[in-house]
Amino acid sequence: MGQFSRKRILVTGGAGFLGSHLCDRLMAAGNDVLCVDNFFTGAKDNIAQLIDNPNFELMRHDVTFPLYVEVDEIYNLACPASPIHYQHDPVQTTKTSVHGAINMLGLAKRVRAKIFQASTSEVYGDPAVHPQVEEYWGNVNPIGPRSCYDEGKRCAETLFFDYHRQHKLRIKVIRIFNTYGPRMHPNDGRVVSNFVMQALQNQPITIYGDGSQTRSFCYVDDMIDAFIALMASGDDVTGPINVGNPGEFTMLELAQNIIDITGSKSRIERRPLPQDDPKQRRPNIEKAQQHLGWSPKVPLRDGLVKTVEYFDKLIASKKAI
Ligand code: NAD
Ligand code: UDP
Ligand code: UDP
Repeated sequence: MGQFSRKRILVTGGAGFLGSHLCDRLMAAGNDVLCVDNFFTGAKDNIAQLIDNPNFELMRHDVTFPLYVEVDEIYNLACPASPIHYQHDPVQTTKTSVHGAINMLGLAKRVRAKIFQASTSEVYGDPAVHPQVEEYWGNVNPIGPRSCYDEGKRCAETLFFDYHRQHKLRIKVIRIFNTYGPRMHPNDGRVVSNFVMQALQNQPITIYGDGSQTRSFCYVDDMIDAFIALMASGDDVTGPINVGNPGEFTMLELAQNIIDITGSKSRIERRPLPQDDPKQRRPNIEKAQQHLGWSPKVPLRDGLVKTVEYFDKLIASKKAI
């Protein structure tokens, strides 16, 4: 591909779990990728395979500060995603979502780039509508411990749609439902990483509450397919668009699956349910199917097997501890 036909693509949060898989995919397609990350939750290990490629550039930068670069497309993923991380410095979490969105939108406006926002199913809060459709406005506590993340992401969506209406920006807003796979953080407290790490080390599997709450889990490769499809879609497809795997499992079922795959001797241990923990979550993905021709392909068990392999290697290399 000639040097003028390939795209220059900015990925904020590119050293994180989803961002690093996205960088891999964009590089494999022959683009120039600029990865911007402040390494709060990201890791150089996640992008080590790209670092020597001349089409890849890594910049340590915090998106709450302005950024002046020349790019054709922007994927804005920068934001800690797990409660342990986003509650560590809640003010910084809101700043990352809100100031980060303003800066990236200001950049997109100046260079007329198409811009993608990694929003979240958390904008629905503890949903009163099930499964969640994009038209549902959500049930979010504005002053609770999860609010810095939920409200920050909601405000970022507002900014995206105002820049779209006011400045005619081409925007792509995706609402990501729980995603898992290799390069998840081993210690981020999320349910898949917790259960897999616990099972592999024969430690008790910690179920919060009675384990009857449900989530739907999307394998990372499927999620990245949706990112690419949304960015490539027509300008009239702005989103917000739900992306996730509608297969719904209780936490007890998830624990059982992971125990089976790992052959673990772990037993199940109950812990208190955290405050504001949603009881159910499952995406309605009709819009993604209709507008992007996208559906998830990887069944939970297959994705869990790959995730277990990754964590197994990580433990063996003693990097996890
Ligand atoms: P992650 O924590 O692995 O990645 C986030 C990345 O952003 C990290 O590399 C981190 O260092 C970086 N970052 C954080 N604050 C920054 C800042 N101020 N400036 C620059 N970089 C910063 O999380 P992830 O799971 O890869 O999530 C990526 C995006 O997808 C996030 O916006 C998240 O809210 C969203 N999302 C993820 C999920 C999921 O299930 N993984 C679900 C819904 C939404
Ligand atoms: N911005 C940026 N990079 C750019 C252009 C703008 O980081 O290439 C930031 C800029 O600092 C500003 C924000 O984006 O605070 C919003 O920009 P916009 O042009 O929308 O607003 P204004 O500059 O008028 O505040
Ligand atoms: N959870 C659990 N044990 C754990 C970690 C999480 O039972 O060790 C539960 C948690 O209470 C929630 C679900 O698993 O009901 C998903 O939690 P996670 O933090 O992964 O995602 P989110 O709540 O953001 O969907």
